[in-house]
Amino acid sequence: MQKFDPLPDFAEITPSAAIAAQTHGWRAKCLQRLIRLDMPVPRSVSLPASLVRCIAAGQAMDYASVLHLFGERPLISVRPSPANPDWGGPSTVLNIGMNGARHAELVERHGQAAADALYLRFVQGYAVHVARLDPDMFEGREPSGEALRAALRAYADEMEEPFPEDPARQLSEVLRSMARAWEGTSARLLRQAKGAPEDAALGLVVQAMAQGIGQGISGSGVIQFVDPVTGEPQITGRWLRQAQDRAALRDTDEALYLTRDARGPSLQDIAPGIFETLSRQGTACRAKLREEMQIEFTIEDGRLAVIDAVRVQRSSRAGLRIAVDLADAGIITRNEALLRVEPRALSELLHPQVDPRGPRDVFARGIAASPGGATGRIVFSSAGAQASAARGEPCILVKRETAPEDIRGMHSAAGVLTERGGITSHAAVIGRGLGLPCIVGASDLRIDPRERRITGADGRVFREGDIVTVDGTTGEVLAGAADMLPPALDGHFRKLLSWADAVRDIGIRANADTPADAQTARDFEAQGIGLCRTEHMFFEDARLVAMREMIFADSPKDRAAALARILPMQRNDFVQLFEIMEGLPVCIRLFDPPLHEFLPHSRDGMRELAEALDRPLSEVTRRAEALTEFNPMLGMRGVRLGIVLPEIYDMQAQAIFEATIEIAARGGSVVPEIMIPLVSAKREVELVKTRVDAVAAKVRTAKSRDFDYKLGVMVETPRAALRAGDIAQHAAFLSFGTNDLTQMTYGLSRDDAGRFMNTYVQQGVFPEDPFHILDVDGVGELLLIGAERGRRTREKLVLSICGEHGGNPESISFCRKAGFDYVSCSPYRVPLARLAAAHLALLEPLIEDVEIQ
Ligand code: PEP
Ligand code: MG
Repeated sequence: MQKFDPLPDFAEITPSAAIAAQTHGWRAKCLQRLIRLDMPVPRSVSLPASLVRCIAAGQAMDYASVLHLFGERPLISVRPSPANPDWGGPSTVLNIGMNGARHAELVERHGQAAADALYLRFVQGYAVHVARLDPDMFEGREPSGEALRAALRAYADEMEEPFPEDPARQLSEVLRSMARAWEGTSARLLRQAKGAPEDAALGLVVQAMAQGIGQGISGSGVIQFVDPVTGEPQITGRWLRQAQDRAALRDTDEALYLTRDARGPSLQDIAPGIFETLSRQGTACRAKLREEMQIEFTIEDGRLAVIDAVRVQRSSRAGLRIAVDLADAGIITRNEALLRVEPRALSELLHPQVDPRGPRDVFARGIAASPGGATGRIVFSSAGAQASAARGEPCILVKRETAPEDIRGMHSAAGVLTERGGITSHAAVIGRGLGLPCIVGASDLRIDPRERRITGADGRVFREGDIVTVDGTTGEVLAGAADMLPPALDGHFRKLLSWADAVRDIGIRANADTPADAQTARDFEAQGIGLCRTEHMFFEDARLVAMREMIFADSPKDRAAALARILPMQRNDFVQLFEIMEGLPVCIRLFDPPLHEFLPHSRDGMRELAEALDRPLSEVTRRAEALTEFNPMLGMRGVRLGIVLPEIYDMQAQAIFEATIEIAARGGSVVPEIMIPLVSAKREVELVKTRVDAVAAKVRTAKSRDFDYKLGVMVETPRAALRAGDIAQHAAFLSFGTNDLTQMTYGLSRDDAGRFMNTYVQQGVFPEDPFHILDVDGVGELLLIGAERGRRTREKLVLSICGEHGGNPESISFCRKAGFDYVSCSPYRVPLARLAAAHLALLEPLIEDVEIQ
């Protein structure tokens, strides 16, 4: 531990004081900015983190000289000031300095009730947060003289000493307890989960109390200038007469509106001058602090004091809109706006919404706390939610209210519903942070966790396991599963991503197998299709039979008949893909059907297939046995099928070329890219290329039309990466299929690794599951070797990645540094990938030639 002698200095926060967020914390810095804007901030003193550390270690500072700054009979608050507001901190303590004499004075000035309420508030805060007494003994009492006396008695009984009267002792205890709370294990874990470094330090701010009680207009409240859920410009907030601090935000019917409102009196009606001042200050605050802030204010006998300002709590949707609006207003740059939006947060904006046009069987209503719709089975505990997630069943976590220990349960749930709480309650804040549809304060609902049932407003009873839908956008709870709408991508979303596109330096395509996927890819503005797995076009029932017929055919004649049936389906598929993609590149992978995925496994399945193929069951069973492989993932997959049964790839090439001609006939244009899967030798590529070229020539002649196409190779085996120099002689592009490449580099089955992966990761054998996070050391080295050798043969060789890793920011970073042209990922990851790529371009300068070590 660092010892200081003398102790580091505290500093009064003035416009010119040396205050920095790193040393004094964000709150101290923010207050200084407010003071520089001439806002009426009560006298404030900042204790730097170095001093707070000494206090936590038990060193005593000169408390009297701090108090001295606040006059003869100080009444002060202490607030936490970590370097980053997201790291939390101990609770604020108000009204330090309150004691019998001060109470008597306040009785004189403001009357018995107000003085009792202030004193009680202090005793409660002190007992719970400083002396760490049981909150049940102190909280939840209505302020009154009796409640005050009871609280003082309870304190004295528990602590075996009277409540401390000396302000210096009160301050020293408050500072010490706050400093130590910061060092506690749970506080440390919580802030580290939010990205705080291990040595994150806490500053503290001591501030003169602005009372919020008095004869004239008095009270306290908060004001913000955007809607926290949508980010739309709008004045929102609450104000409560004769109150301190954030009392207006607690559940109370007496809180008033800020702007003129038909439902009741507002601050704008009662004190228009103050309202105007606050509005002006909000504008100044936004411009100077370059952020949307929530201002906390107090009015004492008509005099305004600005106590504090914090970043407006916001949903991901609001965060994006605020960043774009600040950039549009010229307050921040577009690049800054890009960096303010976390790529992973975009997934919340992509959430489905309950279709307002569909039937809605509403059985309860609450506060719409986090947008999006989710359907799932009711669970009543976090453990239940986790168990449900482990079974792969979406669930709705239903609780009276949530607490920090519910976070893991919330991570596992599809949606959250609570009976209590408001827009800033735990469930609401965490739900918005996680992008989890959430309804809070559904008070017309009765939740009985012991009986594991809920009773709706209309008396209907729902039990654990029943399916319900939460509509976090409207606050309605619906019985059963609701119709869902795909997410709406508004103008701000598109604008931010267009800014991202302007700075990023790597292409983003989508893996899309069906017209629906392609449409999603298009909606998310992918720059083309990087992988169309053609065998996935045959998973639906009617088509599966055609595919199986082809696989089962054991004579060229039968196979030709099956292929003739598939050809028009494929041609039509490709026409649709080309049309949807409107001239953007479409990379079609020739069939790569792991045969076992297409073979029936049960006797019933065999019988169905025998019926569909109109063959005897015994013949179908025999054929299935003949086709069964010991290692299907390493068997007759990919190009091996194309070499053994070349007429299959011939058919696909014909369908692709005929679709190309049809698009041209409709006035469009496309240069299809044909990709050969699971290659391991140059000769495979030569053989396929010769036949594909021949098919192209035949189609050109038959249709009297010309067209272009590109032929490329999917690098999925280590040998293909090592021999990329040879392979590139015949390939216009190489796309790394990192799913198979990971499987084969590790010798780790894609389908079976799950059984031991957890143990491997837990024991640190692998830092992460390499099927999720690209193994840059091993598989990555093969990527670099393949890229380098391929480009040595063909300088303009187009390089990409299309395994599941393609959408991870870490993989994008790797591919970008390796000089890849694009990454291809699932359509729903395209927006994230676009923004992540922009972040990389802004934050990681490119190292030109990546050397192989
Ligand atoms: C791959 O192997 O990375 C790939 C994209 O192909 P598939 O997942 O279809 O095997
Ligand atoms: Mg593969």
